[in-house]
Amino acid sequence: MRAKKIERELVQILGEENVSSDVGDLIPFERDDQFALVPPHRPDIVVMPSTREEVQEILKLANRHKVPVVPLASGINRKGLCIASKGGILLDLRRMNRILEINEEMMTATIEPGVSFGQLVKEARKKGFRVITPYAPSTASVLANYMLRGIYGTATRYGIDHLINIEVVLPDGAILQTGSAAFNQSLPYCNIVNGPDLCKLFQANPGTLGVVTKGVIRLYEMPEVIEPLIALYPDYASMVEPSIEMTRRNLVASCWPMMFTGAAMKILTDFMEEDIYMMWLYLEGDRGQVERDKEAVEKITERYNGFFLPEVPMLDRDTMIKDQIWERTSVKGWKGGNMYGCSFYGVMKSVTRYYEVTREISKRHGFDAFHYESVPVAPFHGQLTYNDPCIFWDASDTEQVKEIREIHEEIKRSLVDIGIYGWFRPFPSVVDTSKLGRYGEMWRKIKELIDPNAIMNPGKPPL
Ligand SMILES: Cc1cc2nc3c(=O)[nH]c(=O)nc-3n(C[C@H](O)[C@H](O)[C@H](O)COP(=O)(O)OP(=O)(O)OC[C@H]3O[C@@H](n4cnc5c(N)ncnc54)[C@H](O)[C@@H]3O)c2cc1C
Repeated sequence: MRAKKIERELVQILGEENVSSDVGDLIPFERDDQFALVPPHRPDIVVMPSTREEVQEILKLANRHKVPVVPLASGINRKGLCIASKGGILLDLRRMNRILEINEEMMTATIEPGVSFGQLVKEARKKGFRVITPYAPSTASVLANYMLRGIYGTATRYGIDHLINIEVVLPDGAILQTGSAAFNQSLPYCNIVNGPDLCKLFQANPGTLGVVTKGVIRLYEMPEVIEPLIALYPDYASMVEPSIEMTRRNLVASCWPMMFTGAAMKILTDFMEEDIYMMWLYLEGDRGQVERDKEAVEKITERYNGFFLPEVPMLDRDTMIKDQIWERTSVKGWKGGNMYGCSFYGVMKSVTRYYEVTREISKRHGFDAFHYESVPVAPFHGQLTYNDPCIFWDASDTEQVKEIREIHEEIKRSLVDIGIYGWFRPFPSVVDTSKLGRYGEMWRKIKELIDPNAIMNPGKPPL
């Protein structure tokens, strides 16, 4: 009865074509590929707004009826973050896909949440700019990715923070502008206002504080030359010191030490079956700089017993260099079934231990197809390093589902014992704010203050 009333009100706001409670329309949203760790749940209704005003009306209605709202920008986060664990309204933002401005003077783009990386890269290129992109499908939402603080091919030089300001519809329907946009909406290009940077307060909250309807992001100059290189090393440990040195001397835009077991290589290439330890590097800049950096990188590689592949295989250089996007259209790992990843931030000097422990756990549970990568992130103070231990597995095998759940618990415990900075875009259950002392308490209080009826994406952090 109440559900029907809510549906009628939603139809009044959005029109019939943008509201559905048909099971056929709801099923696609009920699970993602990490369902072993985040149980599936179906939303009650899906809506597709196209304006900020419609989002405001939807949130006011949901708040009045105390109905959960789950925002979805492209739905490929792979951590169960768009699963409507308590049912309610699935707010599909893909129709809000306008690039509102590309400002050449300010080197910024102002975009809506449904704008994808593929879309923005294409437009920014026309004006000679580069978008910092993740190693992810080009359909991923730029704003959702930057809000969740992603990891990018060029993180070693450009870091991971490319968001300046946001516009948020709060759960009561009010609008919040952050940074300079709060002071002067015609100049939204700076995150500094006369107080704290509230944009940061909203980042890394998976749709739990409000709905972002607009964002101003940083664009970058295209370098004259981009030169990809792959260096092979005897083992993981021997990649640590060279990557620290290359990062500290700012010789590379990208430095990804990584390893694939033979079983993983077989899935990825069909022809190789050897364990492989390699460092994936990007040199960038004007021609002179790239030549100087390359000379230095070669010396470092040699000093640590690495050697370069004469060519970079498995990579379409043209796409990479012209489009500034990585090889994202073919996600080869998925050929082997599902991929479990427990990514986190840690310290470069501990990377060998992180790698050894996670590989040992994977092997002990019978999973040989394993991959590890660790990326130094700018600014490198504190040796900030993104880490990703990955296991290829088969989600249709109930035994493997059980094993993956056990592995997840063991990996979490072991990494905390070694010492890490924190989890990267974690599964909802991984974030335990009760273990974060006053920080966790304040985070929960901020949530209560902004969303007193707890309508925004319930079941996600802060729990
Ligand atoms: C094969 C593959 C490889 C990947 N590699 C990388 C990588 O290298 N680096 C990387 O950073 N990412 C990577 N990803 C993740 C991907 O890039 C996503 O962009 C990212 O996780 C965000 O997901 P999304 O854009 O689909 O947002 P969604 O899944 O739609 O949303 C993510 C979260 O944000 C919330 N949300 C979405 N929109 C809004 C909004 N407007 N307002 C408030 N809350 C909102 C949602 O409720 C949800 O909690 C990869 C994904 C795949 C499938």
